[in-house]
Amino acid sequence: MTGVTGRSDVIKTEAHGDASPGRAGEHAPVTPEWTCGTCGAEWPCAPRREQLLTEYSVDRAMLSVYLGACLAAAAEDLHVAGSTSLQDRFFGWLPRRPRRH
Ligand SMILES: [Zn+2]
Repeated sequence: MTGVTGRSDVIKTEAHGDASPGRAGEHAPVTPEWTCGTCGAEWPCAPRREQLLTEYSVDRAMLSVYLGACLAAAAEDLHVAGSTSLQDRFFGWLPRRPRRH
């Protein structure tokens, strides 16, 4: 068998240094460890949190839904279902009140 694998180990992403929210591949979680693929911190890392707040600034309810889904997936991957520290990690950083303009 002489199969040629065209897979590259490095996924090239466009790096323009701009921090626009919602950009795929930036500060995305790496599963099953749930660390940040960009900076290596526990996900959601600080830059990602800022992105999420900006991204969901008009719909904070959806942010909670999104984080809840992430929390559920992380709890399964990390085998720490019901962990309060994990809940704190995913929700504890949220501002208690919506930002006022
Ligand atoms: Zn990060």
